[in-house]
Amino acid sequence: MLDLSRDTLEIIKQDFDGLFSGELGLSSIKGGQTAADTALANLDITGYANRRSEVLPRSKRGASVLSPYIRHNILTLDEVHRAVKTAPYKDREKFRDELFWQEYARHLYARVGTRLFENLRFEANRNAEGNGWNREMLCVDEVVSEVETDGWLVNQTRMWLASHWTVRNDVGWLHGQEQMYRELLDGSRAANLLGWQWTVGAGTGKPYGFARWQVEKRAPELCGQCPLSNACPIQEFPDEVSLPQVATDSLLTHDPDVDLSAGPTSPIYSAVPEFVLLTIDSLGDADPALVAHPELPVVFVFNGEALQKLQLSSKRIGFYLETLKDLSTRRDLQAFLGNPYDFARDNSVAVTFAPVPSFKKFQNVAELHPYPWLKRPSSGSVRSFSAWRKAQ
Ligand SMILES: Cc1cc2nc3c(=O)[nH]c(=O)nc-3n(C[C@H](O)[C@H](O)[C@H](O)COP(=O)(O)OP(=O)(O)OC[C@H]3O[C@@H](n4cnc5c(N)ncnc54)[C@H](O)[C@@H]3O)c2cc1C
Repeated sequence: MLDLSRDTLEIIKQDFDGLFSGELGLSSIKGGQTAADTALANLDITGYANRRSEVLPRSKRGASVLSPYIRHNILTLDEVHRAVKTAPYKDREKFRDELFWQEYARHLYARVGTRLFENLRFEANRNAEGNGWNREMLCVDEVVSEVETDGWLVNQTRMWLASHWTVRNDVGWLHGQEQMYRELLDGSRAANLLGWQWTVGAGTGKPYGFARWQVEKRAPELCGQCPLSNACPIQEFPDEVSLPQVATDSLLTHDPDVDLSAGPTSPIYSAVPEFVLLTIDSLGDADPALVAHPELPVVFVFNGEALQKLQLSSKRIGFYLETLKDLSTRRDLQAFLGNPYDFARDNSVAVTFAPVPSFKKFQNVAELHPYPWLKRPSSGSVRSFSAWRKAQ
């Protein structure tokens, strides 16, 4: 059992040795329900529509920075959607549209699963080895440094990095998304794979071009200080291309088994649970299994084998530890490093469904609770965001 009373960095250093990558450090974005509730209480999206893509100076940014909490359902999409109901119309609509992009990512991943690691609709460079970020360019260096030190980026600079890696430098997007996934506190396969596929053109056929123009518009202070200012490698936009289509996957247009993708609509009771087991996809106080059993001890098991393979940054592990420490002030909580699926097999647990392929590894759980969808998936098309959105 992990002793959560120790300093977070000490725990990472002592117990997660060999299981994380990069420097030992924590993000300025704190994990936990308490921090999430404070961020939501302070949320003011006035001006969001105009400022969500601003990069520098940081004081001009309009992004909410709620994504690490939303990704882990510490804040549910529904709760955040409701929280902006009195915001100015234009800002509220734009912000809610972005929440729906998150929901779309979840629907798509629930539907196609690991198929999202392959080019979805168009042929983009997926596999070529290399590193697509030349850090002698100040714009690239600044953004890579931000994600490495703080584990978070605005949407605009995520697009810069993905485009620069694959569209400009012709390195396989799968490797770039993996590198970003390791660093992002909000890293999810659903949203990260979607973000990369859509930026490099695998989702739309039209790659997003990154050039000096965006840097001067969104982070005007950078170009003047850049050592390559007079020999800018991204002075012009990359040539526009239309990518060839890949064979249509029928799953994109129709889901033959929605309940398998979306999980149960009401709890399934098979035995009396002794523990509530939390997963990485549901770490909030409103986790349905947690709410159903206020008296039961709570368990979280860090998946050692997965961490060994993924080599997430210490900031991500720190975010999880902070979240668990915070919950342990309200609930009897035990955290382990081991195998969550073995724990669920060997103990009687109540758990909340998660719409991710690995959830299938949980077998015969005592109680299975429904996932908190913003809109429950239907069997209709997930080929494009606009078609999907119209059907919501
Ligand atoms: C290459 C690339 C990789 C990405 N990887 C991730 C990822 O791993 N995890 C992740 O949560 N988001 C990812 N995104 C989406 C988006 O960039 C982030 O959700 C957003 O920047 C988070 O900042 P915020 O909370 O301030 O967002 P805000 O602009 O304040 O938006 C509010 C919320 O809406 C959702 N949202 C906003 N934009 C998007 C979007 N384009 N797609 C999906 N959801 C969105 C997020 O939940 C976000 O917290 C990625 C985008 C790209 C282009």
